[in-house]
Amino acid sequence: MHHQKMLNNEIAQVKSNILAMLAKSTYPVHKNLMLVLNKTASNEWLDCAAEKLGPEYALLISRMTKLEAAVSQIEIGQYGYCCDCEEKINSESLLIDPAIQRCHSCAKK
Ligand SMILES: [Zn+2]
Repeated sequence: MHHQKMLNNEIAQVKSNILAMLAKSTYPVHKNLMLVLNKTASNEWLDCAAEKLGPEYALLISRMTKLEAAVSQIEIGQYGYCCDCEEKINSESLLIDPAIQRCHSCAKK
């Protein structure tokens, strides 16, 4: 499925951004963390990163949380529905951002 591919691509991208930031960091603790994250299984990766990374990673972590949530919704067959009104989100919006959780009218509220 197309959206799933977009989500997985973006997850991989966010993940490599996080690892690239860690690689540039001068804190020794970040070097260790990078080794840990490189060895962490993908299903535990986000929890591990969210628990250990500081506020400078908050935006990347929150984006990844949304992407992972959308992937889970695909797996249980609930993808593409607004979390407020439960209407189907239009497919153009999902192509712009495959991780959106609200339809156009609920997003404006
Ligand atoms: Zn809605």
